[in-house]
Amino acid sequence: MKDDVGSPHDALYHYEEEFRNTLATVDAQGKRIWIYPKKPSGTLHRWRIAVAALLLLSFFAGPFIPLNGHPILLLNFFDRKFILFGQVFWPQDFFLLAITAITFFVFIILFTVAFGRVWCGWACPQTLFMEMVFRKIEYWIEGDANQQRKAKAGPMTANRAAKNIVKHFLFILISALIALTIMAYLVGMREAQEILREPLSNHLGAFIGLAAFTLIFYGVYARFREQACTVVCPYGRLQGVLLVKDSILVAYDWLRGEPRTKLKKSPLLSHEKKGDCIDCKLCVHVCPTGIDIRNGTQLECVNCTACIDACNEVMVKIHKPKGLIRYSSYNAINEGKTKLLNLRVAGYSMVLIALLSLLVYFISTRQDIEMTVLKAPGTLYSKTDDGQITNLYNIEFINKTFDDVSL
Ligand code: SF4
Ligand code: SF4
Repeated sequence: MKDDVGSPHDALYHYEEEFRNTLATVDAQGKRIWIYPKKPSGTLHRWRIAVAALLLLSFFAGPFIPLNGHPILLLNFFDRKFILFGQVFWPQDFFLLAITAITFFVFIILFTVAFGRVWCGWACPQTLFMEMVFRKIEYWIEGDANQQRKAKAGPMTANRAAKNIVKHFLFILISALIALTIMAYLVGMREAQEILREPLSNHLGAFIGLAAFTLIFYGVYARFREQACTVVCPYGRLQGVLLVKDSILVAYDWLRGEPRTKLKKSPLLSHEKKGDCIDCKLCVHVCPTGIDIRNGTQLECVNCTACIDACNEVMVKIHKPKGLIRYSSYNAINEGKTKLLNLRVAGYSMVLIALLSLLVYFISTRQDIEMTVLKAPGTLYSKTDDGQITNLYNIEFINKTFDDVSL
């Protein structure tokens, strides 16, 4: 690659951008590099724990919370019946679900343009379960990153084997719980309980589905981990086209941090500028995707904020202001201006408002009873003796409520 390099600026560019040619989790031979992120701590992490607890509680409690005697959320694709906050939707209402889904995607896009990957760090189920459930269990059983690394490099002792068994048993148990909860959202709580209570032969298909999803979740959280975000997730891949220079994301203030200088290194000459970054690499050690945020915005960054907390801790220790890594935008760091409203934000906002208006209109004008009148198939009109024309029609009534209705 260096042969192609022309001017010194090009050379510098190639050097600086070289990190983009490799994945932090794959070595030169193409083998997986297992990430052992250091246990995160700090103010943002405490906030994330609170938000995660609330979201996880809502997820697991959802199927148990009825509204007007019905599930608060039911996505029964098998019977084509969907319940959203006590309102039932049938296949005839499919267009409403489609508009809702499109509205949600536009909302996510708008949110991404303005606030980057806040969704990934704070609300995505993959990050929530990985960092707030499975990783926490791992830290609890196996200790922090260094202890895990040391144990892995050492021999398989009885203690290590026992820890492994307990950890993987808990992982499978939680994976089964997630699969069961999703099943409750798909078929309803009562049916999910019946599947568990009744003999296996009565619900063989459901059991196979449950076992398959348990294995998938276990595989993702025990082995696949950050690769779900860095290799598979299409949303992560879209960042390159969604983000603008004003998007707020987890960013390193390179103007303040560079040139990075190790604390112990002999001091620079007094006229040389010294950045605030002491190159302690703590921000790299806590990163669950193994990247160095000081290289700039990368698609592997899930905005988990662990590096912000880690760096803030360092800044406090060396008596510098916090926020060397912080929520900020390229333009805010470069020009000192935070601008939330830009052309893309305005455009997406208008599309979102239009979609929301459409959705509100359709939901508010939706009738409880729908009627379809269709000519009976295969029939033609006929003439009666008194010269009148008659036709045969089928009339179908759809009751969209849960109750019996007299027509
Ligand atoms: S934690 Fe902060 S000071 Fe340490 S290497 Fe990262 S950016 Fe530099
Ligand atoms: S760079 Fe920072 S915010 Fe991004 S994934 Fe790594 S630790 Fe999380």
